Amino acid sequence: MSKKKDEKMTFGEALKINLRSFKLLYDKMPSMYIAKIIGIVWSALTPYVGIYLSALLINELSGARDPKRLTTLVVLTLTSAALITLVSILFNKWKDLKESAFWYKIYKMFSDKMLDMDFVDEDDPKTHQLLSTIYQNINGSGWGLYRLYRGFDSLLSSILSLFGGIAMTVTLFTRRVPDSAGAYTALNNPLFIVAIIALMLAVTFISPMLGSKGESFYAQNAGQHNLANRLFGFYGFLGSHYPEAAADARIYRMDKICEVFNKDKTGTFCSKGPFAKIAKKVTGFYSAGSAAVSVIFTGCAYVFVCMKALAGAFGIGDVTQYVSSITRVSGNVSSIVSCIGEMKNNAEFLKITLEYFDIPNNMYEGSLSVEKRSDRNYEIEFRDVSFKYPGSDTYSLRHVNLKFKIGEKLAVVGQNGSGKTTFIKLLCRLYDPTEGEILLNGINIRKYNYNEYMNVFSVVFQDFKLLSYTLGANVAVSEKYDGARVKKCLTEAGFGDRLETLDDGLDTYLYKDFTKKGVTVSGGEAQKIALARTLYKDSPFIILDEPTAALDPVAEAEIYTKFSEIVGDKTAVYISHRLSSCRFCDEILVFSEGSVVEQGTHENLLENESGKYHELWFAQAQYYANDEAVSKLFA
Ligand code: ADP
Repeated sequence: MSKKKDEKMTFGEALKINLRSFKLLYDKMPSMYIAKIIGIVWSALTPYVGIYLSALLINELSGARDPKRLTTLVVLTLTSAALITLVSILFNKWKDLKESAFWYKIYKMFSDKMLDMDFVDEDDPKTHQLLSTIYQNINGSGWGLYRLYRGFDSLLSSILSLFGGIAMTVTLFTRRVPDSAGAYTALNNPLFIVAIIALMLAVTFISPMLGSKGESFYAQNAGQHNLANRLFGFYGFLGSHYPEAAADARIYRMDKICEVFNKDKTGTFCSKGPFAKIAKKVTGFYSAGSAAVSVIFTGCAYVFVCMKALAGAFGIGDVTQYVSSITRVSGNVSSIVSCIGEMKNNAEFLKITLEYFDIPNNMYEGSLSVEKRSDRNYEIEFRDVSFKYPGSDTYSLRHVNLKFKIGEKLAVVGQNGSGKTTFIKLLCRLYDPTEGEILLNGINIRKYNYNEYMNVFSVVFQDFKLLSYTLGANVAVSEKYDGARVKKCLTEAGFGDRLETLDDGLDTYLYKDFTKKGVTVSGGEAQKIALARTLYKDSPFIILDEPTAALDPVAEAEIYTKFSEIVGDKTAVYISHRLSSCRFCDEILVFSEGSVVEQGTHENLLENESGKYHELWFAQAQYYANDEAVSKLFA
């Protein structure tokens, strides 16, 4: 939250935030709102049909008792009640159906925004902290979009019911006590109307104000509540929620960490904890006051209506109608005031939700199409590129000048932290250079349509991810795929033998999240599948960022040797800190502290005995000296 805690939001600001958030929800789920509105209008107005008809019925019973009229009224009351109920059920079903997708749509909104924003923001821990706070608020007590969504129902139905109630109540004041009623004629004095309305307004405002004051204590402490809720939700169920930590959890009894929330009855959620204290003292006081105040009005309404009936202003049947309509008016005003109070309490939570959705896309996106070339003639050039990560004072890349030769296999080597991954992130335009420019066929890559530019690359990132889905869909990243081509790519990536052992072939599920028939693949196998995915995309550029880190050096070298054949005419970039894997490349770039310090073939680079490559090569060779297979590679 940008404002200081004690700096209160004005009502106008809160209203604006609520309206903007409402628009955000409405735009995403208009049909859900339409179903809701129709259902609410129906259920807010129809109760008055029953109230009106039963008043007529009681009046008839206590008056003329005409059997024909009584029969008609009974039939009318029953039929209308049946019809209203039937239509209500249909509307409710429709609304429930539409609402069943509510949570899906909410989380999809957050997820789509994350994928849509500039990578620089997605990569920023502040964005994830913001989202995590929003989720904590929603999961804790529904603060934020859920309360707004739910509050809409109460607000709309209270407003509508209020109008219905007012319409039914007007005659309570206009029907006069007959002049023959003696002292009771005083009830005709307009001061009574003023007094009743004043009492009603006083009570109906005070009650929800007390209620929302009580609620505001929770809102103020929501941070603590939600964080504890989240921590407890995670650590409290460590065994079931975090299977990856199963072994560590047993050895270190990690589940004990959460006991802080239950300890000595003073933990966040315990009987002597902070929230129990709030509930017992302030909130309890305000809630009890709120409930007490609202019944005072009901009592006064009864006295006034009964006295008017007693004096002959209307029949006995009308007493039920007037009491129920005037208490409805009062109840609905209360409800509107409490909705407004909740809107105000919720505004701070909506504000941080909007902060997330308002993260701007600052990255310039051009509209140029990337020319489709069957000859894969795509030339990329780094022209004096330097780069600092946002918020960082130091350059991660400095004055990188480089031209990719089409079809070349280029290796990028260097120690950890030397800038290899940053170089790839810039190449794939996940970030824009701080200085200098990157060109594709002579044009700055910023001028191209972003998605089309991304299509030029297939990348296996260091921390690549496979989905708990079928093997075929994982490779093709689509449900519909060319099975023969998927198999070919898997075989080329070295997964062919393993594929033979899978009973369901390409339909085999990876991992066991969704089916117990799913297979758990090893780190090395997963990397082969990721390589196959890269091949299937068939982009002119292939980039492998330490893709074989989970393989032993021999298997890694095998993959690379083979990969050179598979890559064929594509331009390929291999990143590795293991130099042995890169010696087969046409050219090797040596990174050190963000700069390209050497460039050449393996043989050329080794000749320079004072060079970085020479130093790294011999530093690594000693680790493999005792391994016969690997030492052959270094021979
Ligand atoms: P390599 O891939 O060679 O191990 P990187 O490109 O990951 O190196 O990192 C180069 C430098 O940039 C390092 O000093 C690293 O700490 C820094 N760096 C990497 N990622 C970020 C980031 N998201 N924010 C700030 N600095 C980063």
